[in-house]
Amino acid sequence: MKDKAVPDEIQEILATTKQIDQVLDKMARRISADYSGRDLLLIGILKGAFIFLADLARRLTIPHSVDFMSLSSYGATATASGEVRIIMDLRTFIRDKHVIIVEDIVDTGYTLQYLQHLLEARRPASLRSCVLLSKPDRRLVNVKIDYLGFEIPDQWVVGYGLDYADRFRTLPYIAALRPQVYAGG
Ligand code: 5GP
Repeated sequence: MKDKAVPDEIQEILATTKQIDQVLDKMARRISADYSGRDLLLIGILKGAFIFLADLARRLTIPHSVDFMSLSSYGATATASGEVRIIMDLRTFIRDKHVIIVEDIVDTGYTLQYLQHLLEARRPASLRSCVLLSKPDRRLVNVKIDYLGFEIPDQWVVGYGLDYADRFRTLPYIAALRPQVYAGG
């Protein structure tokens, strides 16, 4: 099969499929070791984390279950409002469970902070976060990331589950979009 061309809107590939695979192998090994003998629940945050969660979960060598939450996103624009809302809650009761939040990207930190407060109040046995990408230069609130894939610069990124206006989610790599695309010019 011929390789698909990189779309014109892409400026630069930040993480190749191979680099993502290596990072996930390492993460899954650490999580499998840390949670050995414990009941683990992974909570994927839709939609951005669906591919990351699927690939991570299949690498774990310990028993675990999976659930999802959906939160309000920025929509088609690339600006943070700081306001977070639940669109779809968990099916699972997390009280006394060992929980890991699986999130695609931490930007300002508002979403993860909101989630951590919300889920802590439900009294899990433990609560950690596993994040594929972090933009430290954009952080507005302090959040604890226990397992991190890549630190990236302040650019809008797509691929591997991440979108811009619901496009580019299925690119097999993580790439920065040309600023003209999200700046609308
Ligand atoms: P925060 O609340 O940390 O500012 O933002 C977290 C959410 O913003 C992420 O879950 C994601 O939905 C969205 N987000 C932030 N930066 C990017 C980006 O560069 N690309 C994409 N696709 N989503 C982003």
